[in-house]
Amino acid sequence: MLAGRFAPSPTGPLHLGSLVAAAGSWLHARARGGRWLVRMEDLDTPRVVPGADREILDALRRYGLWWDGEVVHQSQRLSLYEEAIAALRAKDLVFDCACSRAELQRAASAPAAGDPIERTYPGTCRNGIPPGRVARAIRFRAPDRIVSFHDLLLGPIKENVAESTGDFVIRRADGVFAYQLAVVVDDAAQGVTQVVRGADLLPSTLRQIALQEALGYPKPEYGHLPLVLAPDGTKLGKRDSALPLESLDERRIGETLATALAHLGLKVELDTPDRMLAEALAKWSES
Ligand code: GLU
Repeated sequence: MLAGRFAPSPTGPLHLGSLVAAAGSWLHARARGGRWLVRMEDLDTPRVVPGADREILDALRRYGLWWDGEVVHQSQRLSLYEEAIAALRAKDLVFDCACSRAELQRAASAPAAGDPIERTYPGTCRNGIPPGRVARAIRFRAPDRIVSFHDLLLGPIKENVAESTGDFVIRRADGVFAYQLAVVVDDAAQGVTQVVRGADLLPSTLRQIALQEALGYPKPEYGHLPLVLAPDGTKLGKRDSALPLESLDERRIGETLATALAHLGLKVELDTPDRMLAEALAKWSES
């Protein structure tokens, strides 16, 4: 059976961008009779806001976005990530890295395509840590070949991950398992077969597919939703668009849900969230 998911990071309340991702993944899964799971991506402990997970779940309920099964918290699954790294290490697909962020920034030539933040790793520790240095992070050896998939919304996507990103971090210097690794392990462990999320994660998808292939996991289908942009064209952040639930009465809940659905190309009448979602689902299935 198809299984979709919504995987918020509990670093703040649900905002319009994440509501669009939640509603978009819900519609894609439900329209095909699939399950819809929720996973809290709470590994990045310095950024996690206590109570934000509960707030996000309350918000999902109020918007009528009910999930199946138990909500999974990544912070409770560290041994799974450890095992995946051990499996990759056994195949010599990871290496320890002593480079600091500052050293890498100095060494960086150009930003990686499509991802201005992550820069191509220059390969310093690929064949062993230089003498006198200590291991900090763990990196995955990016495959030097084209990785590809067919996006549900954007069509064919392909990229050589070694060229665009280089060997990327799967366990950070502070010991935190990287998002790229955890998401791949969890999507496989939870039986996720469909990943629908914001287009800002498109560059990550290629890295995640490279990891899945290395770990021998099945490949879910992927779809990337158009981003909600601020009026100046920049990506909408949590600060711009937080939807503090306590200030939202039923009418505002309906209006906000209508805005999120309009962003997905669905015009629905203002009503209770359940009825609005039922109408959205009917329109989605027709289109
Ligand atoms: N936790 C990620 C975020 O909130 C999303 C991960 C995903 O959907 O794969 O940006």
